[in-house]
Amino acid sequence: MNKYIFVSGGVCSSLGKGVAASSLGALLEGRGLNVRMVKCDPYINVDAGTMSPYQHGEVYVTDDGAETDLDLGNYARFTRGVLSRANSITTGQVYDAVIRKEREGRYLGRTVQVIPHITDEIKSRIAAVAKEDPDTDVVIVEIGGTVGDIESIPFLEAARQMIHESGRSNAISVHLTLIPEVAGGELKTKPTQHSVKAMQEMGIQPDILVCRAPTMLDESNRRKIALFCNVENDAVFTSYNIDTTIYEIPLVFFKQKLDQVVLKKMGVESRHANLGAWYSMMDKFKTQKGSVRIGIVGKYMELHDAYKSVYEALFHAGLECGVKVELVKIDSTPLEEGDAAAVNALLGSPDSGVDGILVPGGFGQRGINGMVKAASWARTNKVPYFGICLGMQIMVIEWARNVLGWEDADSTEFNQDTRHPVVSLMEEQENVVNYGATMRLGRSESAAEEGSLVAAAYGEKHIFERHRHRYEFSNVYRKEMLETGLRLSAFTPDGVLVESVEWPDHPWAVGVQFHPEFKSKPTLAHPLFREFIAAARDKKGAQM
Ligand code: GLN
Repeated sequence: MNKYIFVSGGVCSSLGKGVAASSLGALLEGRGLNVRMVKCDPYINVDAGTMSPYQHGEVYVTDDGAETDLDLGNYARFTRGVLSRANSITTGQVYDAVIRKEREGRYLGRTVQVIPHITDEIKSRIAAVAKEDPDTDVVIVEIGGTVGDIESIPFLEAARQMIHESGRSNAISVHLTLIPEVAGGELKTKPTQHSVKAMQEMGIQPDILVCRAPTMLDESNRRKIALFCNVENDAVFTSYNIDTTIYEIPLVFFKQKLDQVVLKKMGVESRHANLGAWYSMMDKFKTQKGSVRIGIVGKYMELHDAYKSVYEALFHAGLECGVKVELVKIDSTPLEEGDAAAVNALLGSPDSGVDGILVPGGFGQRGINGMVKAASWARTNKVPYFGICLGMQIMVIEWARNVLGWEDADSTEFNQDTRHPVVSLMEEQENVVNYGATMRLGRSESAAEEGSLVAAAYGEKHIFERHRHRYEFSNVYRKEMLETGLRLSAFTPDGVLVESVEWPDHPWAVGVQFHPEFKSKPTLAHPLFREFIAAARDKKGAQM
Protein backbone atom coordinates (compact mmCIF):
# COMPACT_ATOMS: atom_id res chain seq x y z
CA MET A 1 0.00 0.00 0.00
CA ASN A 2 1.33 3.44 -0.83
CA LYS A 3 1.72 6.32 1.63
CA TYR A 4 0.73 9.97 1.40
CA ILE A 5 2.54 13.09 2.51
CA PHE A 6 0.45 16.27 2.49
CA VAL A 7 2.51 19.44 2.27
CA SER A 8 0.70 22.62 3.28
CA GLY A 9 1.83 26.15 3.98
CA GLY A 10 1.00 28.82 6.50
CA VAL A 11 1.66 32.43 7.54
CA CYS A 12 2.13 33.70 3.99
CA SER A 13 2.71 32.57 0.45
CA SER A 14 6.00 32.34 -1.47
CA LEU A 15 7.83 30.42 1.23
CA GLY A 16 9.12 27.87 -1.23
CA LYS A 17 6.57 25.16 -0.58
CA GLY A 18 7.07 23.69 -4.04
CA VAL A 19 10.82 23.50 -3.59
CA ALA A 20 10.44 22.04 -0.08
CA ALA A 21 8.00 19.37 -1.32
CA SER A 22 10.27 18.59 -4.29
CA SER A 23 13.35 18.42 -2.08
CA LEU A 24 11.60 15.94 0.19
CA GLY A 25 10.72 13.95 -2.94
CA ALA A 26 14.37 13.96 -3.99
CA LEU A 27 15.46 12.72 -0.57
CA LEU A 28 12.93 9.89 -0.54
CA GLU A 29 14.01 8.88 -4.05
CA GLY A 30 17.56 8.90 -2.68
CA ARG A 31 16.33 6.33 -0.16
CA GLY A 32 15.12 4.13 -3.00
CA LEU A 33 11.41 4.96 -2.81
CA ASN A 34 9.20 5.41 -5.83
CA VAL A 35 7.77 8.91 -5.40
CA ARG A 36 4.94 10.68 -7.23
CA MET A 37 4.23 14.39 -6.82
CA VAL A 38 0.83 16.07 -7.02
CA LYS A 39 -0.13 19.75 -6.93
CA CYS A 40 -3.56 20.86 -5.74
CA ASP A 41 -4.36 24.40 -6.89
CA PRO A 42 -7.31 26.18 -5.34
CA TYR A 43 -8.02 28.41 -8.35
CA ILE A 44 -11.14 27.97 -10.48
CA ASN A 45 -9.32 27.97 -13.82
CA VAL A 46 -9.44 24.41 -15.12
CA ASP A 47 -5.75 24.62 -15.91
CA ALA A 48 -3.00 27.25 -16.00
CA GLY A 49 -3.11 27.40 -19.81
CA THR A 50 -5.42 30.38 -19.99
CA MET A 51 -3.65 32.43 -17.31
CA SER A 52 -1.36 35.34 -18.12
CA PRO A 53 2.29 34.74 -17.29
CA TYR A 54 2.07 38.00 -15.29
CA GLN A 55 -0.60 36.49 -13.10
CA HIS A 56 0.80 33.11 -12.65
CA GLY A 57 4.24 32.66 -14.14
CA GLU A 58 4.98 30.12 -16.81
CA VAL A 59 2.69 27.32 -17.90
CA TYR A 60 4.43 23.99 -17.46
CA VAL A 61 3.55 21.43 -20.14
CA THR A 62 3.60 17.68 -19.45
CA ASP A 63 4.28 14.87 -21.94
CA ASP A 64 0.56 14.19 -22.25
CA GLY A 65 -0.07 17.84 -23.08
CA ALA A 66 -1.52 19.17 -19.84
CA GLU A 67 -0.93 22.89 -19.26
CA THR A 68 -0.12 22.98 -15.59
CA ASP A 69 1.11 25.02 -12.70
CA LEU A 70 4.79 25.90 -12.67
CA ASP A 71 5.32 23.87 -9.51
CA LEU A 72 5.22 20.78 -11.69
CA GLY A 73 8.41 22.13 -13.22
CA ASN A 74 10.02 22.02 -9.78
CA TYR A 75 8.87 18.43 -9.36
CA ALA A 76 10.37 17.54 -12.74
CA ARG A 77 13.69 19.15 -11.87
CA PHE A 78 14.02 17.56 -8.44
CA THR A 79 12.40 14.15 -8.89
CA ARG A 80 12.13 11.35 -11.45
CA GLY A 81 8.47 10.30 -11.21
CA VAL A 82 6.31 10.64 -14.30
CA LEU A 83 4.21 13.80 -14.39
CA SER A 84 0.99 13.87 -16.36
CA ARG A 85 -2.40 15.53 -16.43
CA ALA A 86 -3.31 13.61 -13.28
CA ASN A 87 -0.59 15.30 -11.22
CA SER A 88 -2.20 18.72 -11.37
CA ILE A 89 -5.56 19.06 -9.62
CA THR A 90 -7.42 22.38 -9.65
CA THR A 91 -10.67 23.52 -8.10
CA GLY A 92 -11.84 24.19 -11.66
CA GLN A 93 -11.30 20.57 -12.72
CA VAL A 94 -12.92 19.21 -9.58
CA TYR A 95 -16.07 21.34 -9.90
CA ASP A 96 -16.21 20.73 -13.64
CA ALA A 97 -16.19 16.95 -13.07
CA VAL A 98 -18.73 17.05 -10.24
CA ILE A 99 -21.12 19.32 -12.15
CA ARG A 100 -20.87 17.10 -15.22
CA LYS A 101 -21.67 14.01 -13.13
CA GLU A 102 -24.59 15.87 -11.58
CA ARG A 103 -25.95 16.72 -15.05
CA GLU A 104 -25.60 13.09 -16.05
CA GLY A 105 -27.73 12.18 -13.06
CA ARG A 106 -25.01 10.11 -11.47
CA TYR A 107 -25.68 11.36 -7.93
CA LEU A 108 -29.09 9.63 -8.01
CA GLY A 109 -31.14 12.53 -6.77
CA ARG A 110 -28.92 13.44 -3.83
CA THR A 111 -28.09 17.05 -2.97
CA VAL A 112 -24.58 17.61 -4.35
CA GLN A 113 -22.40 19.37 -1.79
CA VAL A 114 -18.82 20.42 -1.05
CA ILE A 115 -18.66 17.67 1.55
CA PRO A 116 -18.74 14.84 0.56
CA HIS A 117 -18.96 15.26 -3.23
CA ILE A 118 -16.23 17.82 -3.89
CA THR A 119 -13.93 16.30 -1.27
CA ASP A 120 -14.57 12.78 -2.63
CA GLU A 121 -13.66 13.95 -6.12
CA ILE A 122 -10.39 15.43 -4.76
CA LYS A 123 -9.62 12.23 -2.85
CA SER A 124 -10.27 10.00 -5.83
CA ARG A 125 -8.04 12.17 -8.04
CA ILE A 126 -5.18 11.99 -5.52
CA ALA A 127 -5.62 8.22 -5.16
CA ALA A 128 -5.68 7.87 -8.96
CA VAL A 129 -2.11 9.16 -9.15
CA ALA A 130 -0.96 6.36 -6.85
CA LYS A 131 -2.94 3.80 -8.82
CA GLU A 132 -1.43 4.85 -12.16
CA ASP A 133 1.79 3.12 -11.20
CA PRO A 134 1.39 0.09 -8.94
CA ASP A 135 5.00 0.48 -7.76
CA THR A 136 4.31 3.88 -6.19
CA ASP A 137 5.57 4.00 -2.61
CA VAL A 138 4.77 7.59 -1.68
CA VAL A 139 2.56 10.32 -3.13
CA ILE A 140 3.58 13.81 -2.04
CA VAL A 141 0.59 16.13 -2.32
CA GLU A 142 1.32 19.85 -2.24
CA ILE A 143 -1.70 21.93 -1.33
CA GLY A 144 -1.50 25.38 -2.89
CA GLY A 145 -2.38 28.53 -0.97
CA THR A 146 -2.06 29.29 2.72
CA VAL A 147 -3.98 27.63 5.52
CA GLY A 148 -6.84 29.94 6.45
CA ASP A 149 -7.68 30.76 2.82
CA ILE A 150 -11.30 30.03 1.98
CA GLU A 151 -10.30 28.44 -1.34
CA SER A 152 -8.09 25.71 0.03
CA ILE A 153 -10.54 24.41 2.65
CA PRO A 154 -11.92 21.53 0.50
CA PHE A 155 -8.37 20.34 -0.25
CA LEU A 156 -7.35 20.42 3.42
CA GLU A 157 -10.56 18.62 4.36
CA ALA A 158 -9.79 15.95 1.74
CA ALA A 159 -6.29 15.62 3.22
CA ARG A 160 -7.74 15.31 6.73
CA GLN A 161 -10.05 12.53 5.61
CA MET A 162 -7.26 10.69 3.81
CA ILE A 163 -5.03 10.91 6.90
CA HIS A 164 -7.92 9.62 9.04
CA GLU A 165 -8.77 6.80 6.66
CA SER A 166 -5.20 5.71 5.94
CA GLY A 167 -4.04 5.72 9.53
CA ARG A 168 -1.32 7.99 10.86
CA SER A 169 1.62 5.95 9.67
CA ASN A 170 0.29 5.87 6.11
CA ALA A 171 -0.44 9.54 5.68
CA ILE A 172 1.36 12.43 7.31
CA SER A 173 1.19 16.19 7.30
CA VAL A 174 4.21 18.39 6.65
CA HIS A 175 3.52 22.08 7.30
CA LEU A 176 5.72 24.91 6.07
CA THR A 177 5.73 28.22 7.95
CA LEU A 178 7.66 31.45 8.28
CA ILE A 179 9.81 32.47 11.26
CA PRO A 180 10.27 36.21 10.80
CA GLU A 181 13.10 38.21 12.26
CA VAL A 182 12.19 41.44 14.06
CA ALA A 183 14.37 44.46 14.81
CA GLY A 184 17.26 43.39 16.97
CA GLY A 185 17.65 40.13 15.11
CA GLU A 186 15.18 38.16 17.23
CA LEU A 187 13.37 35.26 15.54
CA LYS A 188 9.64 35.06 16.23
CA THR A 189 7.78 31.77 16.51
CA LYS A 190 4.28 33.15 17.17
CA PRO A 191 3.11 33.22 13.51
CA THR A 192 4.07 29.54 13.29
CA GLN A 193 2.04 28.73 16.38
CA HIS A 194 -0.97 30.51 14.87
CA SER A 195 -0.52 28.72 11.58
CA VAL A 196 -0.45 25.32 13.29
CA LYS A 197 -3.58 26.32 15.24
CA ALA A 198 -5.27 27.05 11.91
CA MET A 199 -4.28 23.55 10.75
CA GLN A 200 -5.63 22.03 13.98
CA GLU A 201 -8.92 23.87 13.44
CA MET A 202 -9.09 22.07 10.10
CA GLY A 203 -8.64 18.84 12.03
CA ILE A 204 -5.06 18.25 10.94
CA GLN A 205 -2.23 17.96 13.43
CA PRO A 206 0.99 18.54 11.47
CA ASP A 207 3.55 15.78 12.05
CA ILE A 208 6.48 17.76 10.76
CA LEU A 209 7.18 21.48 10.59
CA VAL A 210 9.53 23.04 8.10
CA CYS A 211 10.27 26.59 9.20
CA ARG A 212 11.47 29.12 6.71
CA ALA A 213 13.92 31.33 8.65
CA PRO A 214 16.84 33.63 7.88
CA THR A 215 19.23 31.35 9.77
CA MET A 216 19.22 27.84 11.25
CA LEU A 217 16.90 27.68 14.26
CA ASP A 218 18.70 26.86 17.48
CA GLU A 219 17.76 24.02 19.77
CA SER A 220 15.82 26.22 22.19
CA ASN A 221 13.64 27.72 19.44
CA ARG A 222 13.04 24.27 17.97
CA ARG A 223 11.96 22.89 21.35
CA LYS A 224 9.69 25.87 21.92
CA ILE A 225 8.03 25.39 18.53
CA ALA A 226 7.70 21.64 19.14
CA LEU A 227 6.09 22.21 22.54
CA PHE A 228 3.60 24.86 21.43
CA CYS A 229 2.78 23.25 18.09
CA ASN A 230 2.38 19.79 19.52
CA VAL A 231 4.99 18.08 17.33
CA GLU A 232 7.88 15.91 18.44
CA ASN A 233 11.20 17.54 19.29
CA ASP A 234 12.97 15.98 16.31
CA ALA A 235 10.24 17.09 13.88
CA VAL A 236 11.07 20.80 13.53
CA PHE A 237 13.30 21.62 10.57
CA THR A 238 14.72 24.84 9.21
CA SER A 239 14.69 25.94 5.62
CA TYR A 240 17.18 28.76 6.13
CA ASN A 241 18.23 31.30 3.53
CA ILE A 242 21.06 30.02 1.40
CA ASP A 243 23.21 31.99 -0.99
CA THR A 244 24.15 29.06 -3.23
CA THR A 245 21.28 27.54 -5.21
CA ILE A 246 17.84 26.12 -4.45
CA TYR A 247 19.23 22.76 -5.56
CA GLU A 248 21.21 22.59 -2.34
CA ILE A 249 17.98 22.40 -0.34
CA PRO A 250 17.69 18.59 -0.52
CA LEU A 251 21.13 18.43 1.09
CA VAL A 252 20.21 21.12 3.65
CA PHE A 253 17.26 18.94 4.69
CA PHE A 254 19.32 15.76 4.54
CA LYS A 255 21.83 17.15 7.04
CA GLN A 256 18.94 17.81 9.42
CA LYS A 257 17.69 14.21 8.88
CA LEU A 258 14.31 15.23 7.45
CA ASP A 259 14.11 12.04 5.39
CA GLN A 260 14.91 9.84 8.36
CA VAL A 261 12.18 11.43 10.48
CA VAL A 262 9.66 11.13 7.61
CA LEU A 263 10.54 7.45 7.08
CA LYS A 264 10.26 6.76 10.81
CA LYS A 265 6.83 8.41 11.01
CA MET A 266 5.63 6.38 8.04
CA GLY A 267 7.08 3.18 9.48
CA VAL A 268 9.34 2.62 6.49
CA GLU A 269 12.57 0.85 7.23
CA SER A 270 15.46 3.20 6.67
CA ARG A 271 17.55 2.35 3.66
CA HIS A 272 20.94 3.63 2.61
CA ALA A 273 20.75 7.19 1.22
CA ASN A 274 22.12 7.62 -2.27
CA LEU A 275 22.45 11.33 -2.99
CA GLY A 276 25.56 11.12 -5.16
CA ALA A 277 24.00 13.03 -8.05
CA TRP A 278 23.12 15.96 -5.74
CA TYR A 279 26.59 16.09 -4.22
CA SER A 280 28.29 16.03 -7.61
CA MET A 281 25.91 18.75 -8.85
CA MET A 282 27.03 20.91 -5.88
CA ASP A 283 30.67 20.14 -6.67
CA LYS A 284 30.10 21.45 -10.19
CA PHE A 285 28.46 24.55 -8.75
CA LYS A 286 31.43 25.26 -6.49
CA THR A 287 34.02 24.78 -9.22
CA GLN A 288 32.43 26.98 -11.90
CA LYS A 289 35.00 29.37 -13.34
CA GLY A 290 34.15 32.67 -14.99
CA SER A 291 30.77 33.55 -16.41
CA VAL A 292 28.86 34.15 -19.61
CA ARG A 293 26.25 36.86 -20.13
CA ILE A 294 23.09 35.61 -21.76
CA GLY A 295 20.56 38.13 -23.03
CA ILE A 296 16.98 36.90 -22.71
CA VAL A 297 14.85 38.93 -25.08
CA GLY A 298 11.20 38.52 -24.24
CA LYS A 299 8.21 40.50 -23.12
CA TYR A 300 7.50 39.28 -19.61
CA MET A 301 10.80 40.38 -18.13
CA GLU A 302 9.63 41.86 -14.83
CA LEU A 303 8.42 38.54 -13.52
CA HIS A 304 11.11 35.90 -13.06
CA ASP A 305 8.53 33.10 -12.92
CA ALA A 306 7.29 33.88 -16.44
CA TYR A 307 10.30 32.10 -17.97
CA LYS A 308 11.13 29.95 -14.98
CA SER A 309 12.06 26.71 -16.72
CA VAL A 310 14.18 28.59 -19.27
CA TYR A 311 16.18 30.32 -16.53
CA GLU A 312 16.61 27.06 -14.63
CA ALA A 313 17.73 25.21 -17.77
CA LEU A 314 20.35 27.93 -18.40
CA PHE A 315 21.60 27.46 -14.85
CA HIS A 316 21.82 23.68 -15.35
CA ALA A 317 23.78 24.21 -18.56
CA GLY A 318 26.18 26.50 -16.71
CA LEU A 319 26.84 23.69 -14.22
CA GLU A 320 27.56 21.33 -17.08
CA CYS A 321 29.83 23.79 -18.90
CA GLY A 322 31.73 24.97 -15.82
CA VAL A 323 30.67 28.64 -16.10
CA LYS A 324 28.19 30.80 -14.26
CA VAL A 325 25.35 32.08 -16.41
CA GLU A 326 24.57 35.74 -15.86
CA LEU A 327 21.05 36.58 -17.03
CA VAL A 328 20.64 39.88 -18.83
CA LYS A 329 16.90 40.40 -19.07
CA ILE A 330 16.04 42.58 -22.04
CA ASP A 331 12.48 43.73 -22.55
CA SER A 332 11.77 43.47 -26.27
CA THR A 333 9.22 46.32 -26.32
CA PRO A 334 11.65 49.16 -25.47
CA LEU A 335 14.23 47.40 -27.66
CA GLU A 336 11.76 47.61 -30.53
CA GLU A 337 11.37 51.34 -29.92
CA GLY A 338 15.14 51.81 -29.96
CA ASP A 339 15.34 52.67 -26.25
CA ALA A 340 19.02 53.35 -25.48
CA ALA A 341 19.12 51.36 -22.23
CA ALA A 342 17.64 48.24 -23.84
CA VAL A 343 19.93 48.50 -26.87
CA ASN A 344 22.88 49.01 -24.59
CA ALA A 345 21.99 45.94 -22.51
CA LEU A 346 22.09 43.90 -25.67
CA LEU A 347 25.06 45.38 -27.45
CA GLY A 348 26.94 46.95 -24.55
CA SER A 349 30.30 48.46 -25.29
CA PRO A 350 32.38 46.19 -27.50
CA ASP A 351 33.49 44.05 -24.57
CA SER A 352 30.39 44.16 -22.38
CA GLY A 353 27.71 42.93 -24.78
CA VAL A 354 26.05 39.61 -24.26
CA ASP A 355 27.75 36.32 -25.14
CA GLY A 356 24.55 34.69 -26.29
CA ILE A 357 20.93 35.57 -26.99
CA LEU A 358 17.91 33.52 -26.15
CA VAL A 359 14.42 34.37 -27.38
CA PRO A 360 11.91 32.32 -25.38
CA GLY A 361 8.31 31.36 -26.13
CA GLY A 362 5.53 33.90 -26.17
CA PHE A 363 2.24 35.04 -27.60
CA GLY A 364 0.90 38.26 -29.10
CA GLN A 365 2.26 41.05 -31.22
CA ARG A 366 3.83 43.35 -28.63
CA GLY A 367 7.62 43.45 -28.70
CA ILE A 368 8.00 41.17 -31.72
CA ASN A 369 10.09 43.63 -33.71
CA GLY A 370 12.48 44.00 -30.76
CA MET A 371 13.02 40.25 -30.88
CA VAL A 372 13.60 40.39 -34.63
CA LYS A 373 16.16 43.14 -34.02
CA ALA A 374 17.97 40.99 -31.45
CA ALA A 375 17.96 37.99 -33.81
CA SER A 376 19.32 40.08 -36.65
CA TRP A 377 22.09 41.38 -34.44
CA ALA A 378 22.96 37.84 -33.29
CA ARG A 379 23.01 36.54 -36.86
CA THR A 380 25.14 39.28 -38.37
CA ASN A 381 27.55 39.48 -35.41
CA LYS A 382 27.83 35.70 -35.10
CA VAL A 383 26.64 35.71 -31.50
CA PRO A 384 25.23 32.33 -30.35
CA TYR A 385 21.44 32.36 -30.57
CA PHE A 386 18.86 30.00 -29.16
CA GLY A 387 15.21 30.42 -30.16
CA ILE A 388 12.50 28.52 -28.37
CA CYS A 389 9.08 28.19 -30.03
CA LEU A 390 8.33 31.88 -30.72
CA GLY A 391 12.12 32.33 -30.75
CA MET A 392 12.35 29.95 -33.72
CA GLN A 393 9.53 31.73 -35.54
CA ILE A 394 11.45 35.00 -34.99
CA MET A 395 14.50 33.45 -36.73
CA VAL A 396 12.35 32.63 -39.72
CA ILE A 397 10.73 36.09 -39.86
CA GLU A 398 14.14 37.77 -39.53
CA TRP A 399 15.57 35.64 -42.35
CA ALA A 400 12.65 36.45 -44.62
CA ARG A 401 12.87 40.19 -43.93
CA ASN A 402 16.63 40.64 -44.02
CA VAL A 403 17.98 37.89 -46.25
CA LEU A 404 15.08 37.36 -48.65
CA GLY A 405 14.30 41.08 -48.50
CA TRP A 406 10.57 40.65 -47.81
CA GLU A 407 10.12 43.65 -45.55
CA ASP A 408 6.58 42.80 -44.54
CA ALA A 409 7.29 39.10 -43.77
CA ASP A 410 5.55 38.10 -40.56
CA SER A 411 3.59 35.48 -38.71
CA THR A 412 -0.15 35.67 -39.28
CA GLU A 413 -0.40 35.75 -35.50
CA PHE A 414 0.95 39.32 -35.67
CA ASN A 415 -0.11 40.51 -39.12
CA GLN A 416 -3.04 38.87 -40.88
CA ASP A 417 -2.53 40.89 -44.05
CA THR A 418 1.15 40.31 -44.71
CA ARG A 419 2.03 39.34 -48.27
CA HIS A 420 4.65 36.95 -46.88
CA PRO A 421 3.11 34.89 -44.07
CA VAL A 422 6.28 32.88 -43.37
CA VAL A 423 4.81 31.60 -40.12
CA SER A 424 1.15 30.68 -40.24
CA LEU A 425 -1.63 28.92 -38.41
CA MET A 426 -1.39 25.13 -38.40
CA GLU A 427 -4.15 23.54 -40.44
CA GLU A 428 -5.59 21.75 -37.41
CA GLN A 429 -5.92 25.15 -35.66
CA GLU A 430 -8.05 26.83 -38.28
CA ASN A 431 -11.43 26.03 -36.82
CA VAL A 432 -10.51 26.27 -33.16
CA VAL A 433 -12.81 28.59 -31.22
CA ASN A 434 -12.08 27.66 -27.58
CA TYR A 435 -8.85 28.98 -26.14
CA GLY A 436 -8.33 26.41 -23.36
CA ALA A 437 -6.19 23.35 -24.11
CA THR A 438 -6.57 23.61 -27.89
CA MET A 439 -2.99 24.27 -29.04
CA ARG A 440 -0.63 21.63 -30.37
CA LEU A 441 0.30 20.32 -26.97
CA GLY A 442 2.58 17.75 -25.41
CA ARG A 443 5.19 15.24 -26.43
CA SER A 444 5.84 14.21 -29.96
CA GLU A 445 8.70 12.92 -32.05
CA SER A 446 10.93 14.95 -34.33
CA ALA A 447 13.56 13.59 -36.66
CA ALA A 448 16.84 15.51 -36.68
CA GLU A 449 18.76 15.87 -39.95
CA GLU A 450 22.17 14.29 -40.04
CA GLY A 451 25.00 16.78 -39.61
CA SER A 452 22.78 19.41 -37.96
CA LEU A 453 23.56 21.15 -34.66
CA VAL A 454 20.39 19.62 -33.26
CA ALA A 455 21.47 16.06 -34.11
CA ALA A 456 24.94 16.77 -32.70
CA ALA A 457 23.50 18.08 -29.42
CA TYR A 458 21.18 15.12 -28.87
CA GLY A 459 23.67 12.64 -30.28
CA GLU A 460 20.69 11.03 -31.92
CA LYS A 461 18.18 11.35 -34.73
CA HIS A 462 14.96 10.64 -32.84
CA ILE A 463 14.08 13.40 -30.45
CA PHE A 464 11.08 13.63 -28.19
CA GLU A 465 10.05 17.03 -26.94
CA ARG A 466 6.92 18.89 -25.84
CA HIS A 467 5.02 21.46 -27.84
CA ARG A 468 2.73 24.35 -27.07
CA HIS A 469 1.91 26.46 -30.09
CA ARG A 470 -0.67 27.23 -32.79
CA TYR A 471 1.55 28.60 -35.56
CA GLU A 472 4.29 26.94 -37.57
CA PHE A 473 6.92 27.46 -40.25
CA SER A 474 4.97 27.96 -43.46
CA ASN A 475 5.90 25.29 -46.02
CA VAL A 476 4.86 27.58 -48.88
CA TYR A 477 8.24 29.28 -48.45
CA ARG A 478 10.35 26.20 -47.84
CA LYS A 479 12.04 26.40 -51.24
CA GLU A 480 13.07 30.07 -50.97
CA MET A 481 14.29 29.59 -47.42
CA LEU A 482 16.44 26.60 -48.40
CA GLU A 483 17.76 28.27 -51.52
CA THR A 484 19.00 31.25 -49.53
CA GLY A 485 20.76 28.93 -47.07
CA LEU A 486 18.49 28.67 -44.02
CA ARG A 487 18.91 25.15 -42.64
CA LEU A 488 15.85 23.17 -41.71
CA SER A 489 17.29 20.72 -39.22
CA ALA A 490 14.40 18.70 -37.81
CA PHE A 491 10.95 17.68 -39.00
CA THR A 492 7.99 15.73 -37.78
CA PRO A 493 8.66 12.07 -38.75
CA ASP A 494 6.32 12.47 -41.76
CA GLY A 495 8.51 15.35 -42.96
CA VAL A 496 5.60 17.79 -42.95
CA LEU A 497 6.19 20.22 -40.07
CA VAL A 498 9.50 22.01 -39.62
CA GLU A 499 10.63 21.50 -36.02
CA SER A 500 13.94 23.36 -36.04
CA VAL A 501 15.97 25.81 -38.08
CA GLU A 502 19.64 26.82 -38.02
CA TRP A 503 21.63 29.70 -39.51
CA PRO A 504 24.47 28.85 -41.85
CA ASP A 505 27.97 30.32 -41.38
CA HIS A 506 27.35 30.97 -37.75
CA PRO A 507 29.00 29.50 -34.63
CA TRP A 508 25.77 28.24 -33.05
CA ALA A 509 22.19 29.27 -33.84
CA VAL A 510 19.29 26.92 -33.32
CA GLY A 511 15.58 27.62 -33.20
CA VAL A 512 13.25 24.87 -32.10
CA GLN A 513 9.48 24.77 -32.33
CA PHE A 514 9.28 22.74 -29.12
CA HIS A 515 10.11 23.50 -25.48
CA PRO A 516 13.32 21.77 -24.37
CA GLU A 517 13.41 23.78 -21.12
CA PHE A 518 10.78 21.51 -19.56
CA LYS A 519 13.11 18.52 -19.56
CA SER A 520 16.31 20.01 -18.16
CA LYS A 521 17.50 18.95 -14.72
CA PRO A 522 20.18 20.25 -12.36
CA THR A 523 21.71 16.80 -12.36
CA LEU A 524 21.43 16.49 -16.14
CA ALA A 525 21.41 19.63 -18.29
CA HIS A 526 19.39 19.57 -21.49
CA PRO A 527 21.71 18.99 -24.50
CA LEU A 528 20.52 22.05 -26.46
CA PHE A 529 21.00 24.38 -23.50
CA ARG A 530 24.37 22.76 -22.81
CA GLU A 531 25.55 23.35 -26.39
CA PHE A 532 24.22 26.91 -26.41
CA ILE A 533 26.12 27.82 -23.23
CA ALA A 534 29.22 26.01 -24.50
CA ALA A 535 29.07 28.14 -27.67
CA ALA A 536 28.65 31.33 -25.59
CA ARG A 537 31.59 30.27 -23.41
CA ASP A 538 33.75 29.58 -26.47
CA LYS A 539 32.84 32.90 -28.04
CA LYS A 540 33.77 34.72 -24.87
CA GLY A 541 36.99 32.69 -24.56
CA ALA A 542 37.97 33.56 -28.12
CA GLN A 543 37.50 37.27 -27.37
CA MET A 544 39.78 37.25 -24.33
N1 GLN B 1 2.73 32.29 -30.34
C1 GLN B 1 3.40 31.25 -31.03
C2 GLN B 1 2.45 30.15 -31.48
O1 GLN B 1 1.37 30.04 -30.97
C3 GLN B 1 4.52 30.67 -30.21
C4 GLN B 1 4.08 29.91 -29.02
C5 GLN B 1 5.13 29.70 -28.00
O2 GLN B 1 6.18 30.34 -28.06
N2 GLN B 1 4.88 28.84 -27.02
O3 GLN B 1 2.77 29.38 -32.35
